[in-house]
Amino acid sequence: MTIDQSLITRHPQIKQLISRTPIFWQNPDYGQSANLPFSKADIFDAVARWERFAPYLALAFPETAKMHGVIESPLIELDQMKQRWNEDHLNKLAGQLYLKADNQLPISGSIKSRGGIYEVLKFAEKVAMDHTDLAYMDNYAVLASDRYKKLFANYGIAVASTGNLALSVGIVAATFGFKTTVYMSHDAKQWKKDELRANGVTVMEYDTNFSAVVSIARAAAKQDPKVHFIDDEGSIDLFLGYAVAGVRLQEQLKQHHIKVDRDHPVVVYLPAGVGGSPSGVTFGLKEIIGPYIHAVFCEPTHVPSVTLGMMTGLNEKISVYDIGLDGLTAADGLAVGRPSRLAGKVMRTLLLGSVTFEDNVIYRYLTQLMDTQQITVEPSAAAGFTAIEPLIDHVPAFNSQNATHIVWATGGDMMPTDEQKADYLKGQALLNK
Ligand SMILES: *Cc1c(COP(=O)(O)O)cnc(C)c1O
Repeated sequence: MTIDQSLITRHPQIKQLISRTPIFWQNPDYGQSANLPFSKADIFDAVARWERFAPYLALAFPETAKMHGVIESPLIELDQMKQRWNEDHLNKLAGQLYLKADNQLPISGSIKSRGGIYEVLKFAEKVAMDHTDLAYMDNYAVLASDRYKKLFANYGIAVASTGNLALSVGIVAATFGFKTTVYMSHDAKQWKKDELRANGVTVMEYDTNFSAVVSIARAAAKQDPKVHFIDDEGSIDLFLGYAVAGVRLQEQLKQHHIKVDRDHPVVVYLPAGVGGSPSGVTFGLKEIIGPYIHAVFCEPTHVPSVTLGMMTGLNEKISVYDIGLDGLTAADGLAVGRPSRLAGKVMRTLLLGSVTFEDNVIYRYLTQLMDTQQITVEPSAAAGFTAIEPLIDHVPAFNSQNATHIVWATGGDMMPTDEQKADYLKGQALLNK
């Protein structure tokens, strides 16, 4: 596809996307009324399913037992990091800074534990209900028994991923007993493939980008009616699994005595790949917490897929390759050139805006987070920090003492220590320049 000049005339910021200049894009449709395809009831349906499965998760994944099978991450105040941030920036941050530490989520150590695991639970419940006498009020720990493992072994689950979605889906699906196949793009880290194989997952490797691998995986899964394909480019179940974060964060804000109203805005900074996880989370936050919590997406300058899709209104009909970008980034979780079919559509009125950043910047923040707070995240997961400065520059009203800024740290805890160390040293070298 050659770039349509009228598109650039209508959306001049595309020029900066093409030249890989970091931008702040303010969504002109933000806050307008819209007919959304989902409601609060859909979120509470997902909440109830997670609750039914909690006894199963506590049994099958002992790391979740102390939380009684609830998969949730802490909200952590970053007072030291805020101090550091203010030393480095001219425009000081007046409000409070927090980290939503999904890097610590059990099972995959990433935000994908929300959506990916949820979709596997939903499929397992359907198979069990269709073929056994499982009742909604039963203790679902029974699903870990041999009888159910034998049943699940007749079914398959397939997913395409740059890494973390495969980790969350693969580990849980294989534990249920499903025949599990993950299709990995060229960005996928070796340790993620090793981890999956060690869990009995079939790992198919492709030397191409995520968007191409999704098509391959979707076509392969279609061949077998007993295989459920988890479609990162448009799955409603993934989306609603992520949206449950809305009810969880509402409770945590209350525990931390963080007010959310007109005079106390809360801004959440979310890294976006295909756009599924940040959109699902944002939908949940808006639906549950309301209009005074605001979301900003963060994308690499080489892969601004959701920004490009939403800016032009073309959503999944346009990819970063169409404007001549290479789609390459060290933030493997964000290496997705074409956005999801769902993300841009649902976010049209719910997203405040988005920013793009250069890869080096996330390494600096990753190292500073380690130095100031002793928290380790993967490169993608530090992306939220890159949006704070553009946001408060462009929306000064949100740089008030009463504001709260929440960086969503989307992954990291499963990283091998040698990788963590290499990332840390890279950031340190950049900071010392
Ligand atoms: C997947 C992922 C994201 C982005 O989620 P999308 O649903 O692809 O937008 C961000 N950070 C990490 C660490 C991820 O694994």
